[in-house]
Amino acid sequence: MKVLVINCGSSSLKYQLFNMENQSVLAKGIVERIGLEGGMLKHQPANKDKVEISENIPNHKVAVKMMLDALLDKKHGVLENISEISAVGHRVAHGGEKFARPVLINDAILEGLKECIPLAPLHNPANVLGIEAVRQILPETPMAAIFDTAFHQTIPEHAYIYGIPYELYKKYSIRRYGFHGTSHRYVSMQVARFLGKPIEDLKIVTLHLGNGSSISAVKNGKSIENSMGFTPLEGIVMGTRCGSIDPSIVFFLMEKEGISLDKINDYLNKKCGVLGISGVSSDFRDLEDAAAAGNTRAKLALDVFAYQAKKYIGSYAAAMNGLDAIVFTGGIGENSISIRRMICDEMDYFGIKIDDAKNNVRGKEADISADGSKTRVLVIPTNEELMIALDTVSLI
Ligand code: AMP
Repeated sequence: MKVLVINCGSSSLKYQLFNMENQSVLAKGIVERIGLEGGMLKHQPANKDKVEISENIPNHKVAVKMMLDALLDKKHGVLENISEISAVGHRVAHGGEKFARPVLINDAILEGLKECIPLAPLHNPANVLGIEAVRQILPETPMAAIFDTAFHQTIPEHAYIYGIPYELYKKYSIRRYGFHGTSHRYVSMQVARFLGKPIEDLKIVTLHLGNGSSISAVKNGKSIENSMGFTPLEGIVMGTRCGSIDPSIVFFLMEKEGISLDKINDYLNKKCGVLGISGVSSDFRDLEDAAAAGNTRAKLALDVFAYQAKKYIGSYAAAMNGLDAIVFTGGIGENSISIRRMICDEMDYFGIKIDDAKNNVRGKEADISADGSKTRVLVIPTNEELMIALDTVSLI
């Protein structure tokens, strides 16, 4: 069975085609600059050369058509016939309180997705556009929606309610949702497999550390906390996002710096975080290089990041009344040896001790715990696309 996974943004469409018999990727690619000048398709078939096609791509329907043409192409394609695609899985950013699990898409579900747009005005409209475009071209192919928020719908009320009038939660659905759910679910399942224990018996802190970072408490296989909240702006300081700050800072900044209401969200999302602290970069490779060369603000940015991650681990151990394992994933979690070292430093109270030689690993599954570490410390590369494909198969 072949399953196509689609992650549609406002001007881009990422895809991966899986052979579910062995979970291998047959082809993957990205259509970029949809609706902008300089449209481009980058297509990488397995075991064949990569191709790039520059073309005007006015809308998502044209982007979907380009992707399908590439998959069917005589030279760089991997399909003989479009009917070989058994199902399509779509990543959807926000499922609100409506969607607590993946769903098969029909007219009613599509309406439900549209109702979630106010909760994620930057992401959900693009997801809906992608679904509608694929539906027009492949009307008979079953399609599933897999939500970034769904895994976190098990977060209990006392953890998702904010200190604002309850009527406003009811009126506007203002509550903690949590994000990166597909990744947190995938890596927590992999931890259970790695440790050879049922997930129902484990208390795990999953650290998805990338351009956007979120940390989850996964107790007995269920998410009970996530550091991101109503939006992905809350939580640990990120590449360019400020993370949790005193809300008063927002009004103070608006007044003192003359930042208007329509600019402040963009400012907090794009100009802050480790980029803002360091003044160097949002990329942790640049920060590590700069810190090693003596840049004190780059070092400070890394220190702030690691310290905040450490605090989440401690608070989530408290929330779960215990901790069996922590797992690092995402671009930083999988690759940054020094960030993992900094986060795990002086955490023996929580049973966390890592082995520097074992920690000397990038981008692959590893147990980096020191001998005698009560809490196991793992690195597990995330694979959100595979999780989406697996969810899609279960649904059909
Ligand atoms: P993601 O959003 O999960 O793709 O993660 C992207 C981020 O991972 C980049 O912005 C870098 O900050 C970080 N990253 C990737 N490779 C490395 C590396 N070798 N060392 C440190 N950070 C890395």
